[in-house]
Formats: sequence, structure tokens, C-alpha cells
Amino acid sequence: MIKAIQRSISNAWRWAYRKWDSIGSDRRIQVIAGDTLPPKLPRRDLVLARDGDEDWCVGMQCPCGCGMNIELLVIAEAKPRWDVVIDSNQRPTLRPSVWVQRGCRSHFWLRDGRVFWCD
Ligand SMILES: [Zn+2]
Repeated sequence: MIKAIQRSISNAWRWAYRKWDSIGSDRRIQVIAGDTLPPKLPRRDLVLARDGDEDWCVGMQCPCGCGMNIELLVIAEAKPRWDVVIDSNQRPTLRPSVWVQRGCRSHFWLRDGRVFWCD
């Protein structure tokens, strides 16, 4: 009974957070020089670490609000790796979907700077 109440509160919180987040502007991506991400990532925008003409990784804070940093490798040799496409408005699209393997276990797509949840 208590468990069920806790679960419904946490579901309501998650729903409200996503709703609130979806009202915000599109996420954009900032390109920084180097092959590593800064320890502190922006709350909303993404960061792409680019060394010379080689893209290394993309970082973002988990969009569920848990505060976790998500790091995705985009270099050709990495496995697993992601494709990042940036449109003329600096809005990123990531392929494939992002699945956080620990903590909140968020699963989402990022398309044109917007988060689409898989659950
Ligand atoms: Zn999360």
C-alpha cells in the first residue's frame, strides 16, 4: 500500500517534471575545444567536445532532472557510439536513442533539440 502510494507520487513527479521541461525552449549544443567534457555541464544545453576537426563526445545533464551527467561518444572508433547532427539553429539530433544504464534508467530520443521519452 505504502509502496503503491510512493510509486504514484514518483510517477506524478516525473510526469510533472517532463511536462514542465517540454515547455522550455529547444535544447542547443555548444561546441568546445578539446577531447573531454567540462565537469559541470549546462542544465539544459548539450556540449560537444571537438578536437581539431574530430568530434569526440557529447555531454548533457539527464533530462529527467536527476542531475546525472550523460556522456556519449561520437568518435568513429567508439563502441557504442552515437551520431550527432546539428541543424542551422544549433539544435542537436542524436542517434540512436539514449538509455541511461544506472540510476534513473531514463530512455529517450533527442530530436531537433527536443526530448522524446520512450516510456
Ligand atoms: Zn535521470
